[in-house]
This record gives sequence, C-alpha cells and structure tokens, in this order.
Amino acid sequence: MEKTKVLIIGSGPAGYTAGIYASRANLSPLIYEGDQPGGQLTQTTEIENFPGYPEGIQGPDMMNEFRNQAERFGAKIVSRTIESVDFYKYPFVCKDDRGEEIEAESVIISTGASAKYLGLADEDKYRGLGVSACATCDGFFYRKKVVAVVGGGDTACEEAIYLSTLAKKVYLIVRKDYLRASDVMQRRVRERDNIEILFNTNTRGLFGEDGVEGAVLVRNLGKENEEEFKIDIDGFFLAIGHKPNTDIFKGQIDLDEEGYIKVKGATTHTNIPGVFAAGDCADPRYRQAVCAAGTGCRAALDAERFLMERDEM
Ligand code: NDP
Repeated sequence: MEKTKVLIIGSGPAGYTAGIYASRANLSPLIYEGDQPGGQLTQTTEIENFPGYPEGIQGPDMMNEFRNQAERFGAKIVSRTIESVDFYKYPFVCKDDRGEEIEAESVIISTGASAKYLGLADEDKYRGLGVSACATCDGFFYRKKVVAVVGGGDTACEEAIYLSTLAKKVYLIVRKDYLRASDVMQRRVRERDNIEILFNTNTRGLFGEDGVEGAVLVRNLGKENEEEFKIDIDGFFLAIGHKPNTDIFKGQIDLDEEGYIKVKGATTHTNIPGVFAAGDCADPRYRQAVCAAGTGCRAALDAERFLMERDEM
C-alpha cells in the first residue's frame, strides 16, 4: 500500500499550489490528478486575469506551469482518480480507480466544481467557440458584441451586469416569469439599458458556421402559445449554477446543502482533523483561479502544522 504524509486529491490551481507548498516543506505530497488534469482552466482559452501573466496565457499552458512547479520540488503526480475515502480510520485510507489503497496522514481535497450546462449537444459543439460558463474569464472577448446569459439567479445577474459593461447588448434568458436573484441584483439588471430579459424562455439550440452566431429559443415551452424564435448572438454564457465535485465525500465530512465542503472560518480545516479543503469545492462564492491557488497554499500550511503538532504530542 502506498503511504504518504500528504495526499492531494485534485489538480487545479488549488491542488497544484498545495503541492508546491507541501513539497517545499519536505512533505513529499502525492497529487492524484483525477479525470480532468488541470481542472476547469483546461477548458478555457486565454486567461488574462491571473496576476503575473501580463500578456495572458492559455488555460492548459498555465496549468502545465503549475504542474511543473509542483514536480520541481518533489511532488509526485499520479494520473489516477480517487474514488472513495475512509476518514473514520487514521491514517486515512483512500482508494483509487484501480482499487489500490493509499494511506495518508493528511488529505487536502481540491476536487473543484463543475459548471452546470443545459445538456444540449450544441453546448459541446461550440464550447470555446462562443459557449462559456465564465463571464469573468471570457467576457473580454465580447467587447461591443451581442451575448446571451442563461439563468435567473445572482450569478446570472452578476454575469449579465459584468457583460453589459463590455458587450453592446446582453440577453438574459430566464426560464420562469421571474428572477430568482436578490432584489438588489434584479434592480441593477433592470437599470442597464443594454440588458434585455427574456422571461419564460428556454434554449433549444445554437447555430453558426465556425462559432456561435445565434440561438434558437422557445417562449412558453409546452404551453398552447409556445413559440420558437431566434436571436443573433456572438456568445452564449451559462450561469445556471455550479456543482462541487464532492460526491465521494458524502457521509465522510461536513458538506453544506449544495455539497460544498464546510471549512472553519478563514482556515481550510474541515470537521475532520487532518482533512483540509481548498479551491472551488469549498468556495461557492468567488470561484477564481487566483483564489483557489491562495487556498491551496493555506491548505498545505494547515496540513504542515497539523502534522507538526501531531508529532509533538
Ligand atoms: P442559483 O441556483 O441561485 O440559480 C440558478 C438559476 O439558473 C435559476 O434562475 C434557475 O432557474 C436557472 N436554471 C437552473 N437550471 C436551469 C436549466 N436547466 N435551464 C434554465 N435555467 C436553469 O445559482 P447561482 O449560481 O445564481 O447562485 C448560487 C448561490 O450563490 C446563490 O445562493 C446565490 O445567491 C449566491 N451568489 C451570490 C452572489 C452575490 O451575492 N453577489 C453572486 C453569485 C452567487 P429557476 O429559478 O427556474 O430554478
């Protein structure tokens, strides 16, 4: 059985940063990369808001640099996925997708979150070609263009407001006849002249030659007055929520009702001593790479301190 002082589960900015810090602290961490090495950023194109890259950098390239930096200091990176954990035992026992067990004195969970998509085939077809689930990441590419945001919650309103400062026009596609977002967000949306809210509207598909050129929408879906229509857009943004990748931790650590890992105050401590959480799996609010990297650093420092205090006991 493989044994480690620090097992890092997940390999986005949080996991790799934890790996950099833990390896520099001589803890020889093991990073299990999971089935999407590099995490969500490998799905985006150019990243222009991560400090230190004034010219911008491609998401996959940035994640490669994080990875190389972790390896340089001795982190061992394993291209496998952790499929189950037992935090009731100590040392903790985790099992990978080949059924092999790893015994860990501390665990850093950095499994990230995944944006929810509508499930349309066209979302895959045009991903990176006009379909995005992150206005903060990709909005800049739609200056003076026309975009649509799907969703009626705070995220959708926030993204629509952000995009309205860049784009010529923003459609907000809302499936119900009201916005679920807080009053203040709703007011801000309504104050923007270039945001048009399409209530009672669902998306049926997207069209375009080499990228998104428009969307096929349906008003009053399933009702007598159902009506299909098209809008011309350059970008299609999903803002219908995120799902933290925490299914394997259910029943093992405290999660909130959305599945995000609960951490104590400004630390990365979960309710299980020796298990820490970093990045989007514990962050329903900010979801930015730079924030994830910051919590990855904190998790490694928390793990280091945990191991030191345990050894002193
Ligand atoms: P929410 O779950 O609050 O909203 C999701 C929205 O997407 C809803 O309008 C929902 O519609 C819609 N939706 C879901 N599935 C589909 C679908 N298949 N087709 C069409 N529409 C769909 O998620 P958010 O990400 O907006 O917010 C998550 C949490 O984060 C909330 O608690 C929010 O308050 C908070 N937040 C706070 C912010 C702030 O305070 N500044 C900013 C961002 C988030 P329906 O209403 O019909 O279910």
